[in-house]
Amino acid sequence: MTMERLIVGSLQTNCYILESNKIGLVIDPGAEPEKIIKAVSGLKIQLILATHQHSDHINALEEIKKATHAKAAIHHLDWIDGFDMRLEHGQRIQLGSEYITVLHTPGHTPGGCCFLTGNDLFSGDTLFPGGPGNTSFSDDDEQIILKSIREKLLKLPNETKVYPGHGLATTIGQERGLY
Ligand SMILES: [Zn+2]
Ligand SMILES: [Zn+2]
Repeated sequence: MTMERLIVGSLQTNCYILESNKIGLVIDPGAEPEKIIKAVSGLKIQLILATHQHSDHINALEEIKKATHAKAAIHHLDWIDGFDMRLEHGQRIQLGSEYITVLHTPGHTPGGCCFLTGNDLFSGDTLFPGGPGNTSFSDDDEQIILKSIREKLLKLPNETKVYPGHGLATTIGQERGLY
């Protein structure tokens, strides 16, 4: 599996393109569809995944669907128009000869998810270098995101690479001490 990171839109969202044997998958088509379409040319895009429903992660969804004819998936608790498939915790998605596992990590949004493949975790706005994603709305949400991180992400090995929805990558080992 190879991975390319594009930085798109005014909030500098990370859009990740995974590839295995010329089959591709797009995570978080946040903006700048032309840039994403150019990056996936030559690939057969099998699926578009959204870590959550915030617009800075899905603003280019419609254009990418049109250009690639791929279906789009999001967790059922973050469901909005424009998607085709509902994700569940634990679901495995095949990409070429490899698999991506869906981890439901609510807190930033109710249906927020992280995607794990091999030693790579795509953490959306759940886990960033130096702390969790924001939960500006209530104390409950803060407890929920901490629980998601402790129970679902910190179970992963230290060497797991974390690719967040904005900014640079980190590792589980580097973040573990903060929780
Ligand atoms: Zn967000
Ligand atoms: Zn975001």
